[in-house]
Amino acid sequence: MNRILQHYDLTHLHTFRLPSKAHSIVTIQTPEDVESLPADAYLLGEGSNTLFLMDFARPIALMRLKGIQLKEFSEYWEVTAAAGEHWHELVVSLTEQGVWGLENLALIPGTLGAAPVQNIGAYGVEIAQFIKHVHVWDREHKVYQELLNADCQFEYRDSIFKQQPNRWIILAVTLCIPKRWQPVLSYGELTTLPASPSALEVMAKVIEVRRNKLPDPQYIPNAGSFFKNPEVSYEFWEQLSVKYPTMPHYKLQSGKVKLAAGWLIDQLQLKGYRLGGAAVHHRQALVLVNMGDAVGEDVIQLAGYIQQQVWEAYGVKLETEVRLLGQNGLVTL
Ligand SMILES: Cc1cc2nc3c(=O)[nH]c(=O)nc-3n(C[C@H](O)[C@H](O)[C@H](O)COP(=O)(O)OP(=O)(O)OC[C@H]3O[C@@H](n4cnc5c(N)ncnc54)[C@H](O)[C@@H]3O)c2cc1C
Repeated sequence: MNRILQHYDLTHLHTFRLPSKAHSIVTIQTPEDVESLPADAYLLGEGSNTLFLMDFARPIALMRLKGIQLKEFSEYWEVTAAAGEHWHELVVSLTEQGVWGLENLALIPGTLGAAPVQNIGAYGVEIAQFIKHVHVWDREHKVYQELLNADCQFEYRDSIFKQQPNRWIILAVTLCIPKRWQPVLSYGELTTLPASPSALEVMAKVIEVRRNKLPDPQYIPNAGSFFKNPEVSYEFWEQLSVKYPTMPHYKLQSGKVKLAAGWLIDQLQLKGYRLGGAAVHHRQALVLVNMGDAVGEDVIQLAGYIQQQVWEAYGVKLETEVRLLGQNGLVTL
């Protein structure tokens, strides 16, 4: 059964910790609980990709389903886990059991259920590569379904779940992890690992690098990368590269070029820039942080200022990677 909590404070239910309250809070503890959820309930995992900019007028449904099943086949492992499982703990547990492939995605905060929503990714790996199917409750047609990988429309930080936010409740995810394993070491500090590392060594390196690079939301509230890395046309990138020959870029199969949002912001000397209680992290330009007393308006002002500066300098529009919530639902800057 759903349980209505007695206090509705949202501050500690999202990692940016803006002061905010909810209309009501319900927890999902059994899969059937989703059938009796209020129609306008907003799904929340651990709130590590979510900012409550103000009080929220709708009920919140906290995903707390638990359970993990691991099956072995001759060529691959199949893992089915409930949406409320903690992603990083799942990665550590599987890697330590010899199920290798997810190690580059270690230390990404949040629940498994939210991971397909923005197709979490890091160090050249995305969860979509491993998803066999996603078990969902379709709120529109009131049916349980299994969506196959191809149905999920996975893209860079995008999926059908992000595109249709009020329709799908992810209950569980089935991952297919091939036994034939090859480390992915082409990104960032992973290139410095000695030849032929084990998955445990890769995971340890990923954890070390992330701990050094990213502020821990437990001590400095934040929601990870605030903006997505923008994609521009090849022709536009050619023009930019004349003016900024050292600009990091990544050519995509689509013909477009992906730019590093953090670099664009950093070049404008915005690290440490503060507006009210919100600031650009002093070491990581892509991460905005709550200095302790930030309110939603500070974040809106700061993010808008960064967007405007980047637009004026490069003609590139930054879009948010985080989910911004106003009084009644998702909002954009
Ligand atoms: C320090 C830090 C580092 C990060 N690094 C990375 C990174 O390297 N790569 C990356 O991709 N992300 C990163 N993130 C972002 C974040 O960890 C991921 O987006 C994560 O998947 C969010 O999980 P959550 O449970 O906290 O989601 P929430 O913030 O609670 O929810 C996110 C969205 O998913 C929806 N949702 C949640 N659960 C469900 C469900 N069961 N069914 C349907 N919809 C649901 C919510 O409605 C919301 O729209 C980082 C965040 C932080 C704070």
